[in-house]
Amino acid sequence: MKDFIDDEKIQHVLDVSAGPEKRRVEDVLVKARELKGLTPEETAVLLQTEDKELVHEILMTARYVKESIYGNRLVLFAPLYIANHCANNCLYCGFRRANKELKRVALTMEEIAAEAQAIEAEGHKRILMLCGEHPTRSSLDYFIEAIETVYATTNFNGEIRRINVEVAPLEVDEFKRLKAAKIGTYLLFQETYHHATYKKMHPTGPKKNYEYRVTAMHRAQEAGIDDVGMGALFGLYDYRFEVLGLLYHAQNLEKTCGVGPHTISIPRLEPALNAPAAIKPPHPVSDEEFKKLVAILRLAVPYTGMILTTRESAALRNEIFSLGVSQISAGSRTNPGGYHDHGGNDFMAAQFNLGDTRSLDEVIYEIVQQGLIPSFCTACYRLGRTGADFMELAKPGLIKKFCRTNAILTFEEYLLDYASKKTKKAGMKLVEKLLADTGSAGLKRTINSRLRRMENGERDLYI
Ligand code: SF4
Repeated sequence: MKDFIDDEKIQHVLDVSAGPEKRRVEDVLVKARELKGLTPEETAVLLQTEDKELVHEILMTARYVKESIYGNRLVLFAPLYIANHCANNCLYCGFRRANKELKRVALTMEEIAAEAQAIEAEGHKRILMLCGEHPTRSSLDYFIEAIETVYATTNFNGEIRRINVEVAPLEVDEFKRLKAAKIGTYLLFQETYHHATYKKMHPTGPKKNYEYRVTAMHRAQEAGIDDVGMGALFGLYDYRFEVLGLLYHAQNLEKTCGVGPHTISIPRLEPALNAPAAIKPPHPVSDEEFKKLVAILRLAVPYTGMILTTRESAALRNEIFSLGVSQISAGSRTNPGGYHDHGGNDFMAAQFNLGDTRSLDEVIYEIVQQGLIPSFCTACYRLGRTGADFMELAKPGLIKKFCRTNAILTFEEYLLDYASKKTKKAGMKLVEKLLADTGSAGLKRTINSRLRRMENGERDLYI
């Protein structure tokens, strides 16, 4: 598989869309409301829109599309960093090899189990497991043992039901081993799609190889991992270029493998210890631009989940929740061991600085205040609704029905087992309202009977 990202073509598509007429922007937004996605050319028109009123229209259209496909739920997860040794030297990352001040850690299996228990005690059911790229300190054997350890670790009613992973690109046989370990989504960020910037940002180490990275999703799919997640690190190069890079990547994957990405992550550069590009981003993205790009991605790939991390501040996250994001991390630690040692987020061992340091319970309270449903659902993946099957369900809007129901059920589980008094009160009120708003009498009966079963002690109920 060869590198398929064409910088000149992306730049050309952006250049010919510069300064779009109002009429053209409105036409693209009309098409976006049909929920069929946008071409890179149409997306470029929106990316090149600067007019404040039109940008507002883009944001409103994104809200409509998000609501139409995903309903008003937000899926929650916690990242679990297990090791921070790294053979690479990415200029934006605190784990980079040249950072001699970083406290290097590779958690033992006992420590990983302790981390899992601490995450479970918060109420999380889904994690993203990650580590630096190091041939011996974070080998594939080590990583797979860590996955098995977490799945086997429970804490009263707490258990991790889905482990998404973010590890360096692998060969097809290695991806097969990850699949056999029952991972959820395989995530990998290209960081930047702009070749010259990529080269500059990755001066040494295996990550230097752009082509090997950009083709990793294809190898994962070949190995049978049909839920893959891509992402770009915004701030390294022009955000417009990166959005189109993501789209061309998604298009190529769909064309070659029959299914596009399950998720797109939208991290923005945050300060990190001794990471020059993170301390002074080469192409800073303002909050307004960030909101705009989130909304545009929602319109361009409406059926792809979008992930927002705790890199962003609490205030901005609160605003962006309703713009098209479908998954968020909460209560995160980016330093290995940060959950169970109660040391909080130790900047001297972390990959980057956190923008949102609220606990999971505080985030949930805020989500509920916005009328959104926090979800801990892992049903699709456990029932085999992944890859093309997931997309088939998503397209006619069925996902909204399944997801809404499972969000209510898993949220009830959280309220019963983990919520603070204040969150429980607000959450129970929301659950009652959602039940009352459920149109179908049959579905209402199903939800009601499962809620009663949970009150009587059953857990892990889903449709
Ligand atoms: S971004 Fe990843 S590969 Fe690069 S230094 Fe950080 S941990 Fe290593």
